[in-house]
Amino acid sequence: MIIIMEHNATDHDIELVEEKVKGLGFTPHTIRGVERTIIGAVGDERGKARIQSLESMHRVDSVVPILKPYKLTSRELKEGNSIIDVSGIKIGGKEIIIMAGPCSVESREQIMETGRDVKNSGAHILRGGAFKPRTSPYAFQGLEEEGLKLLAEVRKDTGLPVVTEVMNPKDVDLVERYSDIVQVGARNVQNFALLKLLGQIKKPILLKRGMMTTIQEFLMSAEYILSEGNNHVILCERGIRTFETATRNTLDLSCIPVLKKETHLPIIIDPSHATGHWDYVIPMAKASIAAGADGLLIEVHHNPEEAFSDGPQSLKPETFKQLMSEIKPFISAAGRE
Ligand code: PEP
Ligand code: MN
Repeated sequence: MIIIMEHNATDHDIELVEEKVKGLGFTPHTIRGVERTIIGAVGDERGKARIQSLESMHRVDSVVPILKPYKLTSRELKEGNSIIDVSGIKIGGKEIIIMAGPCSVESREQIMETGRDVKNSGAHILRGGAFKPRTSPYAFQGLEEEGLKLLAEVRKDTGLPVVTEVMNPKDVDLVERYSDIVQVGARNVQNFALLKLLGQIKKPILLKRGMMTTIQEFLMSAEYILSEGNNHVILCERGIRTFETATRNTLDLSCIPVLKKETHLPIIIDPSHATGHWDYVIPMAKASIAAGADGLLIEVHHNPEEAFSDGPQSLKPETFKQLMSEIKPFISAAGRE
């Protein structure tokens, strides 16, 4: 339910409503707008009628139900776009944000060189996996803490904030300590125990859509994180599984307008995992921006033939530079910067 306060409601009026919401067994999530404050009351659906009774409280304008199953994630609760601030970089604002780097952190030389290159080409955030979700248990699993330390070193050198994946709930503290954004990979999108833990940390979360996750299920996963108190969620579409085999996955571009309609959270597109082929990455990056994405996640490797993971979809640094230049007219055409 959403409790809409009158425009002249004082802090005290708002506190009284929040207390009452808690007393009824719900959790209040207060959003203070310029015009007026609204309070989302989230909890067991069966208590809805009791929340409705708050309409009679002082300076409460109205109490309206949120019809969608995702509540805090929904545009019904928050009309404006959420902007996630990562060390001054604003994800979901006017600027298109580019996250780039290798699939896996492989060595100090590799991540340092790539970090410097993507920074010089204009990337805003460095990506790199230290814990890798591999289909085969015999494939490279990542450098783990050593990889996190290398990412932190490159952050210090380049000034680029770092996004990296956590797979196991037991590693959340560790990954949070070294990263600026914590990534949830496609395979963990419905690991609800992990999502709940990430809802309790302070760092923003990059939540990747699963390869077989509907948009509604994806938003329910985001809701798990928000419902635990972490509102800083960035959604990432990375392709879904269809009958088509020409590409690794099928990039669901239509999820962009759908998500923009359904949620206030920012949306990043990952054309690298979506297509699986480096030469399809630039066209799909352009299409993503044209369709309204807030940014891109791009895999870049110096020597894709030798990459420990995802070489075929990785751009060489010079091709990444070309991408950064070729997307410019699309950014302007979309009214972004
Ligand atoms: C990755 O970002 O390297 C990754 C493993 O992505 P996904 O979870 O989307 O497959
Ligand atoms: Mn990868």
